[in-house]
Amino acid sequence: MAQQNTSEAIPNNNDVLIIGGGPTGLTMSALFSRAGIRSLVVEKRKTLPADPQAHVIRRRSMEIFEQIGVADAVRAAEPDLALDYITWCSTLGGEEAGRLDLHIDENGDPLPKIWTNIPQNLLQPILFDRVQSDANCDVRLGTECVGIEDLDDGVTAKISLAGGDEHTVCARYAIVADGAGSPTRERLGIGMEGRGPGAKFYMIHFKADVTPWIKSRSGPLFWILNPAALGTFIVHDPKKSIVFMTPALADEEGEDQLRPRLMAALNIPIDPEIVSIRPWVAHGQIAERYRLGNAFLVGDAAHRFPPTGGLGLNTGIQEAHNLAWKLALVLKGRGADRLLDTYEPECKPAAQANAQDSMDNQEKLGRVFEAIGRVQDVDALDERLRSIDGAEKRALKDAIECQRSHFSQRT
Ligand SMILES: Cc1cc2nc3c(=O)[nH]c(=O)nc-3n(C[C@H](O)[C@H](O)[C@H](O)COP(=O)(O)OP(=O)(O)OC[C@H]3O[C@@H](n4cnc5c(N)ncnc54)[C@H](O)[C@@H]3O)c2cc1C
Repeated sequence: MAQQNTSEAIPNNNDVLIIGGGPTGLTMSALFSRAGIRSLVVEKRKTLPADPQAHVIRRRSMEIFEQIGVADAVRAAEPDLALDYITWCSTLGGEEAGRLDLHIDENGDPLPKIWTNIPQNLLQPILFDRVQSDANCDVRLGTECVGIEDLDDGVTAKISLAGGDEHTVCARYAIVADGAGSPTRERLGIGMEGRGPGAKFYMIHFKADVTPWIKSRSGPLFWILNPAALGTFIVHDPKKSIVFMTPALADEEGEDQLRPRLMAALNIPIDPEIVSIRPWVAHGQIAERYRLGNAFLVGDAAHRFPPTGGLGLNTGIQEAHNLAWKLALVLKGRGADRLLDTYEPECKPAAQANAQDSMDNQEKLGRVFEAIGRVQDVDALDERLRSIDGAEKRALKDAIECQRSHFSQRT
């Protein structure tokens, strides 16, 4: 697990302070370096995250990873999982409602591999190693931004160091990349627009080998329709790393409640080792503004949408790219401040469209349930799926086919 030495004094005066060392902040630091700009990244975590979260890395993000020299490492770290199908089934071991073939598009034409499938907990160490070995990138783990003030000619930020000491840091510009709950965005008084908070889910990350049960329909996602254990398996590595994302049924649920639900969704003879259980609340929100004086919001700090579409991390990477070269030009005296005002009108509409797509994708999933109709329990569901025929079978096939836009985005 990545660790780093924080004993060196934190620099007082910086061109750029990046608050948050998630995928967006780390990519931004590497992009600045490529443009010849030094940045200081403060990240409150002491170690990199162990849970997978995002896994869909789209082509445009890979082009950006190419520019910062990590694309080969990202491809090499992809787990051994064929992206053949997206499957809907009663349980992993139960009846299948249908599947989408990822090798063809909506017209039945061949579709090239459209995303790189790497879990976020494998991606982040690659980005971290990239910036840690770069003299232009100063990344401090265990270092939290606890205050920020925007001044005429820069920002000052209060930084809390691992031992508890506080330090004031000045920077010409601040990049606010501290994630969906962004405390820095709140401190700057920037509100969010849109929908949320919505439904609460639990993400159960577990270790198990499910290869025997998925090898004939290999893929990253299995939608589970069992009325007693609804949810989605996100298969990061079929041999050892899977997340079950299931709607919360009560305010506080722990392993006692969630393990039986996981077993009911699996319905196969395995004994999963639960690594972590984390709550997650759906939002479809965009920040009111992306810039306040010398501070800029990027990534989840600027928007939060459901994972249905795999767009959150990708949107942040693309914002980092849009902003880094502009700030680099301005810092070098080769661009005027008004260039920086193009960041919001260029990036916010993309985030709004991605938020809408993600929410539409989430809502459309309901059509599969409508096509199946109400069933009492998993036995009735299995019986229904075994016997469904004629027009009803075609309606179910159409309901699954209409989910295709969720997975076929090419950029
Ligand atoms: C189940 C799930 C599946 C997903 N799948 C996909 C997918 O397939 N594709 C996709 O594109 N997206 C996906 N996402 C979304 C993706 O995980 C996020 O969009 C992404 O992590 C955002 O990156 P970020 O760097 O902007 O923010 P974060 O990853 O949240 O990083 C922010 C960082 O800031 C740090 N921080 C917070 N406050 C402070 C502070 N005060 N000082 C210093 N540091 C601070 C945090 O510790 C954190 O490390 C998924 C999300 C979930 C929950």
